[in-house]
Amino acid sequence: MFKFISLNLKKGIEKIKDNPQLIYTIFIAILITGSFIFMSEKFIGIAQTAEERLINVRIGSLQDAFVSFAGEKMNDPAYLNQKIRDVITTNETIKNFKIVVKQNLSTTTQYVIIASNDYSEIGLSDSQDSFLYTISSSDPTNSITTPLQGNGERLFETSRAIMSSTSEVLGVAFTTQTLSMADVAINSDINNSRILLFVVIILVLILFLRHSKIIDYMDLYKKLKEIDQMKDDFISMASHELRTPLTVIRGYAEFVSAAPELSAETKDYVSKIDISTKDLDSLVADILDVSRIEQGRMKFEMVKLNPNELIDGVVASLVLPAKEKALSVTFDKSKVEGDQFIQVDAGRLKQVLINIVGNAVKYTNKGEIVVRQYTENSRLYIRISDTGIGMTEEERINLFSKFYRIRNDETKDIRGTGLGLWITARMIKEMGGRISVESIKGVGSHFVISFPTIK
Ligand code: ADP
Repeated sequence: MFKFISLNLKKGIEKIKDNPQLIYTIFIAILITGSFIFMSEKFIGIAQTAEERLINVRIGSLQDAFVSFAGEKMNDPAYLNQKIRDVITTNETIKNFKIVVKQNLSTTTQYVIIASNDYSEIGLSDSQDSFLYTISSSDPTNSITTPLQGNGERLFETSRAIMSSTSEVLGVAFTTQTLSMADVAINSDINNSRILLFVVIILVLILFLRHSKIIDYMDLYKKLKEIDQMKDDFISMASHELRTPLTVIRGYAEFVSAAPELSAETKDYVSKIDISTKDLDSLVADILDVSRIEQGRMKFEMVKLNPNELIDGVVASLVLPAKEKALSVTFDKSKVEGDQFIQVDAGRLKQVLINIVGNAVKYTNKGEIVVRQYTENSRLYIRISDTGIGMTEEERINLFSKFYRIRNDETKDIRGTGLGLWITARMIKEMGGRISVESIKGVGSHFVISFPTIK
């Protein structure tokens, strides 16, 4: 057991050393419990004093009432005893009620009890109260209260002079009152507040444990971020390094294919090398773009631009691949209204359009691809429509996710990485634009991108 505690204590100290912010948590935990203890002790103290004052004030007024008639009945102890008994039965806090008179004998002075709720003490001398008797006689209009030494019980004695009609002190009424009943109630409150304190301590401990768990998660998160960063750095470095040998391979493949003495078979092999290196090259380019976007390293040089010419260029560059599939690619300018400008990075917008129009060519087997430009509600729209294979609603859900490719019989022979649309969507967003898609399976697709127009 001791070993277990010391081991965990050591672990805890190590953890605090590694995470100094835990000191702050411990400080808060101690502060919360400490203030709770302090406040409850303070409230208990206030409650006890208030209770004391209340009881003593009540006894004071009771004595006031009693002495107002007692002065005339000092010669009738039976009457006084009866009244004392009445008072005692209706006031549970009064333990003793007696009336003492001072008798001056020839040599000494005696203090004798003439009435009491305790019959056995009637007639006995009461020298222990002589001091209070003297004080009360000198201040006959007030009740005087002093604490008594009780056996673990809080006791108070209150005295009040009894006067004759001629303001002569005839005797003193003494009451002894106990606060035990109030104390029982207060003690039960103390117990309740201790239970509450215990609950608070447990809660604070749970909070503390949770906090230290969160610190563990924070460490884990930091490590994960570091690993993620390492992964990104590796991808970025590897893609860069791959580009150089790829360019060399492509260069040599081109060089070899131009040689006149090659057989048709060798020419076919070389062209396959060329196609594969092109694929590999575009994959590497995509991965590089992904890592740039994810690391926030992709630069955008935003300029004011009328995209007309740029669209023309993109369409022209794709006419040949489209022709190979007997497709037409055109830029329908019928809805272009004069000079319209947007704020974009020209190179990135070109990349976006090549990807979307390129996909339209890739995923269309017959018909046409039309690019349109128009303005609506201060936005410039570029709509790329094809008469291709289209997509179902379900297939469109993850269209802009990384590595997402629709896999079916129509797409199984078409090469791609599934990164193009993710990169496209991210670049459009970075430039403050929007992209959406409408598509009907077997009919075709419309990709629409838009940017706010500027003056
Ligand atoms: P890929 O490299 O596979 O073309 P993209 O991210 O560019 O990757 O496209 C994701 C998927 O979206 C494609 O695999 C294809 O199934 C579908 N797709 C994209 N453009 C079109 C289109 N114009 N018509 C039909 N399907 C398309």
